[in-house]
Amino acid sequence: MIDLRSDTVTLPSPAMRTALAQAELGDDVYGEDPTVNRLETLAAEMVGKEAALLVASGTMGNLAALLAHAERGQRVILGSESHIYHYEAGGASALGGLIYQTVPNLPDGRLDPVALQVALGWPEDVHRAPIGVICLENTHNRCGGAVLPPAYLEQVHTLARQHGLPLHLDGARMFNAAVALNLDVRELTRHVDSVQFCLSKGLSAPVGSVIAGSHTFVNRARRVRKMLGGGMRQAGVIAGAGIVALTEMVARLAEDHANARMLAGELAGMPGITLEPERVQTNIVIFELNDPAITPKQFLTALREQGVLMGGFGGRQVRAVTHYGITADEVRAAVAAVRAVLGG
Ligand SMILES: *Cc1c(COP(=O)(O)O)cnc(C)c1O
Repeated sequence: MIDLRSDTVTLPSPAMRTALAQAELGDDVYGEDPTVNRLETLAAEMVGKEAALLVASGTMGNLAALLAHAERGQRVILGSESHIYHYEAGGASALGGLIYQTVPNLPDGRLDPVALQVALGWPEDVHRAPIGVICLENTHNRCGGAVLPPAYLEQVHTLARQHGLPLHLDGARMFNAAVALNLDVRELTRHVDSVQFCLSKGLSAPVGSVIAGSHTFVNRARRVRKMLGGGMRQAGVIAGAGIVALTEMVARLAEDHANARMLAGELAGMPGITLEPERVQTNIVIFELNDPAITPKQFLTALREQGVLMGGFGGRQVRAVTHYGITADEVRAAVAAVRAVLGG
């Protein structure tokens, strides 16, 4: 199977399997797992923050970050298409008593600037719940892997500071953004107060995410992580693979981006498909099936019979994601499979 459903299906590299088998271990809840400590030190340095914390998943990382920043009854300002809002089971509300206030996302992943100003308005009005934190997402999943450039992050950071609010970045695929921009990831993270990024997904570790920020932030998040059941013991088995993810797997994301561009370029030319290839900036390709004779479900089933997996993405949209497990030849085979399905 050529599995383009998500970069979450990536399997660990041989170096990761060695690292996790040989990791030096201790009890991380006591702060005594040397491999976790090494990963957290490395991660903090790579993203230019005082401290970092290994968490079980991106969802846990975002939740711990939001609960570290905000009190019960406070608002979280976030994009209408954000992963936190759509795909994290409402955790900040259900478990943290926070209120999600969405601001419309523009197609390029930014927040509608006028709507953001309105959301931040009248903070002293007793009718309004106070705001605890503002969130951005980079790359932006539901906006097709769109990249937010440093200048935009800086602009929102300035605005957040003017309001005395922290800015959190859901950077699950932040390294994809940095590679696409050909910038050190610190050019992105310097404009946010906290960040979450996934070691799984494109970086191909089997488990784990990291959150990073100030010492104060990470100390609070560590307590929330414990409360959420995310204090793990000999977590160095995870961290060992995570260190390989950060040291060996970042630069190769460019290959995934090239494969995604090739896929988008080929699909865009096919009858039955609507796709703007210039919008594909990283490893995510979202397209629309415009032939009413075939439903997305029929399309995906027929594609599966050809040995290719893609994912439905709501309405008539389909998503394909390139990753460590996919070669350029497999992309060409996937293109041929789509052509066969739509032509047949
Ligand atoms: C995958 C993802 C997450 C959550 O990560 P999990 O490890 O799957 O919980 C958060 N934000 C974005 C943008 C993601 O793509």
